[in-house]
Amino acid sequence: ILDARQVTKVFHGRTVVDHVDLEVHKGETVCLLGPSGAGKSTFLRCLNQLETMEYGAVYVDGDLMGFREHGGKLHAIPHRALAKQRRHIGMVFQHFNLFPHMTVLENIIEAPVGVLGQPKNTAITEARALLDMVGLAEKVDAYPNSLSGGQQQRVAIVRSLAMKPKVLLFDEPTSALDPELVGEVLDAMKSLSQDGMTMVVVTHEMGFAREVADRVVFMADGAVVEQGPAREVLDSPREARTKDFLARVL
Ligand code: ATP
Ligand code: MG
Repeated sequence: ILDARQVTKVFHGRTVVDHVDLEVHKGETVCLLGPSGAGKSTFLRCLNQLETMEYGAVYVDGDLMGFREHGGKLHAIPHRALAKQRRHIGMVFQHFNLFPHMTVLENIIEAPVGVLGQPKNTAITEARALLDMVGLAEKVDAYPNSLSGGQQQRVAIVRSLAMKPKVLLFDEPTSALDPELVGEVLDAMKSLSQDGMTMVVVTHEMGFAREVADRVVFMADGAVVEQGPAREVLDSPREARTKDFLARVL
């Protein structure tokens, strides 16, 4: 459902993502691992078009992101059309930027109502169901600053889900959390994965990768070094750089 081909990003003459291919099938959960500076975040940002790429293409459900074919040529699509396309790729960041002056429910329904034009009642019903799924049903009317970091991150996940993305990208969703709050967020992500959500997760949580990922992709120096089933890559890595990395994080 997600097909990234030869994704390349250059910053100030330095190639930080170097012709990376990634195909993710519907319902698959892929964990993206690698040392700091490997280009993981930049790659995710290219996938959802937060960065313009120097080279490469991203297809979501067969649609080429950012371009339209016309008269046998590709044309960059206008900003508004791009915004529309990008809704198919949700993203959850390390720092959950909930609106502090809105309640949990208002945070969640804002985009589905304002951007998708969903009827408010429908959006509220769906928001409640999603909150229930992540164990936060009783927090609908709370304000973000009255919630723990783990609860806020679960709300941020629900807010992304409310847009009904085809793929959900996570960039180290638990690394800003106190250790005792990490588990509840990973549990929410695990149930999403089991429900069939298509996910790409950048994480240093090896337990999560081992247990939940269908596939692990290891990146270093802007390139994919090794990938395969989670257990295979984590338990018997083939490449020296993967071995080094795992020895340091496990
Ligand atoms: P981490 O595990 O620390 O989050 P990462 O794998 O996500 O690392 P990136 O954040 O993608 O790595 O960064 C890859 C490289 O690109 C780094 O060397 C970084 O300094 C550089 N880089 C990232 N964003 C920019 C930017 N906006 N301008 C210039 N260089 C950048
Ligand atoms: Mg990063």
